[in-house]
Amino acid sequence: MQANSEEYCELCGSPIHGKGITMSYEGSIITVCNSCYNRIRKHAVIVKEDNKKSETQKKTTPKPPKMADTELEIVADYYKIIKNAREQLGISQQQLAQKLKVSENIIKRFESGKLKPTISQARQLEKILGIKLVTPLENEESEKEFDETELTLGDVVNIKEGKK
Ligand SMILES: [Zn+2]
Repeated sequence: MQANSEEYCELCGSPIHGKGITMSYEGSIITVCNSCYNRIRKHAVIVKEDNKKSETQKKTTPKPPKMADTELEIVADYYKIIKNAREQLGISQQQLAQKLKVSENIIKRFESGKLKPTISQARQLEKILGIKLVTPLENEESEKEFDETELTLGDVVNIKEGKK
């Protein structure tokens, strides 16, 4: 293992060859060269090497792959599922729109696949229609999240307009 960068003595400023000595000296933690260590050792306390190592390891250890249980997405054929379930229940797009508290146009766009429901809308649709629309997202794709945020904002506007 090579040192990633050359260390310099924090007392005399000369490069430290090999391992520096990390010490607690006059209230601060410093890394010093051997000669400075010999000079100040009576007044300083060596900081345990273990502490330093574990701290560095925490920073450099790559994160283990997360189980993305919070990441959710809408199933690809959501529009078919919504349309089929709505028709089976025998309710109109308008009725579904009222239940979901959105404009009828939103339902039309859902069912034509032009507009993807937001996660919260999909959750409501799941309850209303007794279907499954939300599925856990396996790989982390944050860009999709952004798209959904934009849709949410657009839908809020639509809801407001539809109520007027
Ligand atoms: Zn020194």
